[in-house]
Amino acid sequence: MQAPSVGGVMLPRGNGDTIRLSRGASLTDFAEKIGANPASLVAVMMNLGEMVTATQSVSDDTLTMLGEEMNYVVQIVSPEEEDRELLESFDIEFGEDEGGEEALVSRPPVVTVMGHVDHGKTRLLDAIRKTNVVAGEAGGITQGIGAYQVGTEVNGEDRKITFIDTPGHEAFTAMRARGAKSTDIAILVVAANDGVMPQTIEALNHAKAAGVPIVVAVNKIDVEGADPVKVRGQLTEFGLVAEEYGGDTMFVDISAKQGLHIDSLLEAVVLTADASLDLRANPNQDAQGIAIESHLDRGRGAVSTVLVQRGTLRIGDTVVVGDAYGRVRAMLDDKGNNVEEATPSTPVLVLGLTNVPGAGDNLIVVDEDRTARQIAEKRAARERNAAFAKRVRRVSLEDLDKVLKAGLVQELNLIIKGDASGAVEALESSLLQLDVGEEVDIRVLHRGVGAVTESDIDLAMGSDAIVIGYNVRAAGRAAQMAEREGVDVRYYSVIYQAIEEIEAALKGLLKPEYEEVELGTAEIREVFRSSKLGNIAGVLIRSGEVKRNTKARLLRDGKVIAENLNIEGLRRFKDDVTEIREGYEGGINLGNFNDIKIDDVIATYEMREKPRA
Ligand code: GDP
Repeated sequence: MQAPSVGGVMLPRGNGDTIRLSRGASLTDFAEKIGANPASLVAVMMNLGEMVTATQSVSDDTLTMLGEEMNYVVQIVSPEEEDRELLESFDIEFGEDEGGEEALVSRPPVVTVMGHVDHGKTRLLDAIRKTNVVAGEAGGITQGIGAYQVGTEVNGEDRKITFIDTPGHEAFTAMRARGAKSTDIAILVVAANDGVMPQTIEALNHAKAAGVPIVVAVNKIDVEGADPVKVRGQLTEFGLVAEEYGGDTMFVDISAKQGLHIDSLLEAVVLTADASLDLRANPNQDAQGIAIESHLDRGRGAVSTVLVQRGTLRIGDTVVVGDAYGRVRAMLDDKGNNVEEATPSTPVLVLGLTNVPGAGDNLIVVDEDRTARQIAEKRAARERNAAFAKRVRRVSLEDLDKVLKAGLVQELNLIIKGDASGAVEALESSLLQLDVGEEVDIRVLHRGVGAVTESDIDLAMGSDAIVIGYNVRAAGRAAQMAEREGVDVRYYSVIYQAIEEIEAALKGLLKPEYEEVELGTAEIREVFRSSKLGNIAGVLIRSGEVKRNTKARLLRDGKVIAENLNIEGLRRFKDDVTEIREGYEGGINLGNFNDIKIDDVIATYEMREKPRA
């Protein structure tokens, strides 16, 4: 066979062999796999029109493309897969109970409390704790360790329930986005005087996407004007139909403040668990679990609250939790008592780890200290590599056609955020009516009014969804997070354009020539009036950098107020400058556009030509 060359550089050439590379691998990693010189791969990339250094980590697409060029089939290995393989190489399997059916013993359900802000999540978690104290616990709960367990009597039987003590769905989705399942049942708190609100729906959609059954706690029934019946009606629209109306969701009217009907709520949780879940685990094996919350304690070192999921965790066990490891020196339960062991669904604070693991990291008991250390070190190294892989493209509109053809996904998951509920609904129903053939389903995982939030990005990460912002933008750190995690967020200001683009993408016809790249955001702290220049915005650069002569849009409360503006003037103190970076203050002049207010955000961007894969 003739040695192929590109631009005079001899190319290593495969025979269609498959090579496996971790996500975020560099050309050097690639070269090592095929026994080639990294410099030759750099040359190949250059010929393909991309400047890449040998050690820089590159996107999945680049690795695949490079492979194709040299006749290799590249298989990208996800971090989750890699971890599974790492554990396998030590003969460890995470997530499966050892032994057969007969080894399984029932375990308490693990519950997360979710709902709209101010609807009483924290108060409810407190109330549930107190119920338990009244039930005869000595000492009471003094320690907030991130989770606690309570007892309740159902049909004459003593039953336990474990509560994750961080209200809200952020923790829940953050863990899920990392592939960890911490929760069996969600309690959705809805204030009866306020009804269903945006975060109620958000929480509900997160729970649904995770396949977690929901029990609805209709709270604040003591408040005048409380209308629990209305809440039932509202939630029907979202597929939660109360049992008394022929559905299968249990609704319990409570007052977290007065401690009313908390017992009934606990009973509903147990009954829902019994009816729809098979919660059993093998308590007689090496423990496995998940870290819920960890921190560095001044006196005690790294401490981590872990939820045991199977097996029994004991003092003296050698454990590895994420990239931390060590021997369990001591364990404390949710009442601050020292305990010797923890069985499935029990949360305990573990002392003795080398460093602080992350939320959602798995805990595994291993036979030898050496094994624990090796696993932890391998994971730490991988984390470092992955951190370099900045753009982990998940599903994006550009490559949708390819992924669909490859059979990698059969459905297009969407999250729709907009500036008004009417527009969001209109967009959703038009999208759902798109005729896209038999093979693909369009699923709207979540819709809502308001800016694209970190929680939306979390949901998108967990479900490989594309986010659509209609007349709204990403709020706070959501844009950076999307960029980092490779979540495709699309902004539109015309409904039919959104529809056309999605339709085109599904048919593989999308041909975007330019893409918008966010450069930086500036928060307006002050407005100065100048007779000569009009209004000048005194700003703090919140992210990225703001450059003179770039395009900008103005956001107020996450909504787009003005498009197509230009950064005409940029100043630091008295000097004209060409750019200002994150963390610095300065002055921005938007030309003859003067409608600016304190707290508005100026988001700047640039149109860059986009290579079509
Ligand atoms: P969260 O944001 O969902 O955690 O809400 P909180 O638990 O902080 O409660 C918000 C406010 O509602 C607080 O002032 C609580 O005291 C109050 N609250 C919570 N539950 C009840 C209730 O059942 N009745 C009344 N009247 N007030 C409640």
